[in-house]
Amino acid sequence: MSFELHTVEELIEADKKYIWHPYTEFGSANHVYPVKEAYGICITLTDGRELIDGIASWWSCLHGYNHPQLNQAIESQLAKMAHVMFAGLTHEPAIKLAKKLVEITPEGLNKVFFSDSGSVAVEVAMKMALQYWISQHQPQRNKFLTIKQGYHGDTLATMSLCDPHSGMHHLFHHALQHQFFAEAPDSAFDERNFDHFAQVLKRNKQNIAAVILEPIVQGAGGMKFYSPQYLKQVRALCDEYDLLLIADEIATGFGRTGKLFACEHAGISPDIMCLGKALSAGYITLAATLCNDKVSNGISQGPANIFMHGPTYMANPLACAVANTSIDLLLSQDWQSIINNIEQQMKLELLPCKKMPGVKDVRVLGAIGVVEMEEKIDTQALMPKIIEKGVWLRPFGNIIYLTPAFIISRDDLSILTHAVCEIVKEIKLTRDISEII
Ligand code: PMP
Repeated sequence: MSFELHTVEELIEADKKYIWHPYTEFGSANHVYPVKEAYGICITLTDGRELIDGIASWWSCLHGYNHPQLNQAIESQLAKMAHVMFAGLTHEPAIKLAKKLVEITPEGLNKVFFSDSGSVAVEVAMKMALQYWISQHQPQRNKFLTIKQGYHGDTLATMSLCDPHSGMHHLFHHALQHQFFAEAPDSAFDERNFDHFAQVLKRNKQNIAAVILEPIVQGAGGMKFYSPQYLKQVRALCDEYDLLLIADEIATGFGRTGKLFACEHAGISPDIMCLGKALSAGYITLAATLCNDKVSNGISQGPANIFMHGPTYMANPLACAVANTSIDLLLSQDWQSIINNIEQQMKLELLPCKKMPGVKDVRVLGAIGVVEMEEKIDTQALMPKIIEKGVWLRPFGNIIYLTPAFIISRDDLSILTHAVCEIVKEIKLTRDISEII
């Protein structure tokens, strides 16, 4: 038996044969690009081509790749220990990180549960809400109210919160727990639109454990932005009917929308908040679920009196160490001006797309730039063209988006926005030609 793979071609062959990549099929038509290294905002392929990364490895690498201070944080921690179990033991990186998260997140969130991915952080949030209501002797409150076009993860419970019709998981709709869905919020506040949410809430309030949503920006469900007023009113209604509010800030957290956390746009504090992605700066998977006293006291006073969850790699010290350094790094800079500059530049440079045929909408918030096309994009067919332009983007559905690392220079951001405009033109051209043929 030989496990040796020598050439890049052998590696690619083995990759095709054995590995499932996210949301992709097996087979030769399905291309993956082997990466040699990544530094700053640049991904270098094994054939030497350099790509400017426009999406920071799915919103996570906010300081770019291979950052000296983040590397150092991991190396120093590695010299002490890579991991210890978290039941009955604790360690400095986790304690420091928990304190930091409590200090920087909205008022009232003061207990932290660490886990290993965003989906699990959402599952933990759901479980916290369920356990809270068991403690209150209201176990019939076992469903969740959310808004359409949302996305909360890939595990079974989180799939049930994603849009049952337009979302990535509609295939499984028949097998998932039924939740309550209100219409997706409009971009500008509309009282009638909010009324639908209010009606669904009032109709089902006896069975709702919590309202869960992505604050201000709905990410993988379609990159929609909605008004702070909507979020404010959701919070007010949850208070009125004594319902818990869960904010999934896995994509929006750590400055991405121009505020440190998107809830700040509405000046609200949720009862439970989920963090992931940029938490550990794209280095090692880490997530956290924070809650307030109401939730933690409720759970503690319940029949189990402990919170019934405990992942093996909970609070991994390497991940916590890099998260601590990443947050320090972010807050030591004038991050608001940095993100504001990215926002202004994207607004200016993506604007030409607005007038292009085939484009439905162009929108920018913080360091998130979105071009929404009228029709679905053939991502696999488009990838070679994207690579040819020396950039790394990953369109999905009818969306081309930019979520660059905050360290991006003006010139590199211009290359990205220019590439997006070119791609939009080419999509239209390819479609026109295929219609003629
Ligand atoms: N919630 C939101 C808002 C997300 O954007 C994501 C990831 N795209 C998740 C949950 C799930 O996170 P993970 O992929 O780390 O499981």
